[in-house]
Amino acid sequence: MTSSSSSSQLPADNKVVMFVKRPGENNPPTVDCFDVIPIDSPSESDITSEQCIVRILFLSVDPAQRCRMNTSTGVDYLGPYEIGEPVDGMEGVGIVERAGSASTLQVGDLVTGCIRLWTWTKYFVVDSTDLVKVNLPSTFSPSVILSCAGLSGITALLGIRKKAKIDRTRPQTIVVSGAAGSCGSLAGQIARIEGCTTIIGICGSDEKCKVLKEEFGFDAAINYKTEIISERLDRLAPDGVDIYWDNVGGRVSDEVIEMMNPNSRIVLCGQIAVYNTDLPYPPPLPDHTVQILKERNIERERYLVLTYKDEMDEAIAQLSEWLQQDRIKVKETIYDGLASAPHAFVDMMTGKNIGKMLIRP
Ligand code: NDP
Repeated sequence: MTSSSSSSQLPADNKVVMFVKRPGENNPPTVDCFDVIPIDSPSESDITSEQCIVRILFLSVDPAQRCRMNTSTGVDYLGPYEIGEPVDGMEGVGIVERAGSASTLQVGDLVTGCIRLWTWTKYFVVDSTDLVKVNLPSTFSPSVILSCAGLSGITALLGIRKKAKIDRTRPQTIVVSGAAGSCGSLAGQIARIEGCTTIIGICGSDEKCKVLKEEFGFDAAINYKTEIISERLDRLAPDGVDIYWDNVGGRVSDEVIEMMNPNSRIVLCGQIAVYNTDLPYPPPLPDHTVQILKERNIERERYLVLTYKDEMDEAIAQLSEWLQQDRIKVKETIYDGLASAPHAFVDMMTGKNIGKMLIRP
């Protein structure tokens, strides 16, 4: 087989993250659920003419991976991790190091892709058709492809456009939970661009509250670990909440829903507060909350970004434009080395990240 690359060997220091232990449905994940082991780097003889070898620059760390640690994920679009198998994640970005002769990609191309899972390793053999080439202005780090112009950003943009139903003719207050994380920080900023007038974020530390106000331009921030949400919202949103971007569920969401207006909308993005439990998704709500939703005619439909595959390219173009115009700010928490990957996952689940959690293998 011929390839568009040199015949020199790739560096030998390859590693892969393995899944070795289920935490149990009702437990938080721990670093010993994973093992990081050395493996051989792939060589040209390992790829077909349509494949390439990608050197991974950044890997995305996602809450959905927690569901894959159970024997059943509870969803049909993601399978469970198998014990003793490599871990793979939702997205990555990398450089083509070797390309088969029939590949449309060239050595040196910057590539990404979310139609296949990315093995948590350094050098990754992949069908070229599963990747897209990215032309990134040299002023940006390739990580922004994951922290903004990838699934997190698309989730934020399409969630706001499809489910938030912002009424531009009237002042609109949105509350975002999980606000200092990847999807939440973008959802709040995009809500402002799309016409919301008051943006309130809920997150888990004072440091995150400061970042929300000073860097992401939120009007106010509430620390759900130290403050009473309903009391703060009473003052911050005297005319009630029109839109609730729900990343977390649980008692945070019950308290926000108490403050919602008639005919308001919830973007049901995620429920991370219950991912370490055996509750189904979406989890059942307390009777009182169900009653409020009914009496006030509050919309609360399940939202899944993968429903909108046909609109993703357009969304990426929009996000890239806003990023270049400096209309949206992005933060990243990067863990270096595959050995730190288990910690990155566990730490994201316990809120150690601001913005997108990434691994730089
Ligand atoms: P984040 O970057 O927001 O990271 C997760 C954050 O969740 C943590 O930083 C932590 O922040 C917060 N958190 C963890 N446990 C709890 C808890 N018990 N109560 C409240 N907050 C908690 O992750 P993503 O942006 O990647 O994902 C955010 C949500 O969006 C998740 O629910 C995810 O499943 C969902 N999602 C949904 C998609 C869809 O298509 N619907 C697509 C992608 C993601 P803190 O310090 O504030 O506690």
